[in-house]
Amino acid sequence: MANNWNIPAWFEAEIRARDKDCVYCGTPFTLSKISKKSAASWEHIINDEKIITRENIALCCCGCNASKGQKQLSVWLQSKYCKEREITEKSVAPIIKQAIANGL
Ligand SMILES: [Zn+2]
Repeated sequence: MANNWNIPAWFEAEIRARDKDCVYCGTPFTLSKISKKSAASWEHIINDEKIITRENIALCCCGCNASKGQKQLSVWLQSKYCKEREITEKSVAPIIKQAIANGL
């Protein structure tokens, strides 16, 4: 996975240690040559690539990232994609629950 976001290496290591599965659907990450859909991708919880904080940067699978796109988190959680996969504000990773608690 290329790091195209100007994320420092120490920060990337910290996030990778925290997010070993998709923060949304919980899928364990795979190498992209095995499955592109379950490969890790960088997620900006608030869609602003200038906000590089441990609260705003997470790793999610390419499937969730593609589905979420530019949607606001609360809007995306109502989508068919999330309903089909039973992704709810209760099922997501703690970092996402925190974002929801902060009003996203
Ligand atoms: Zn996912």
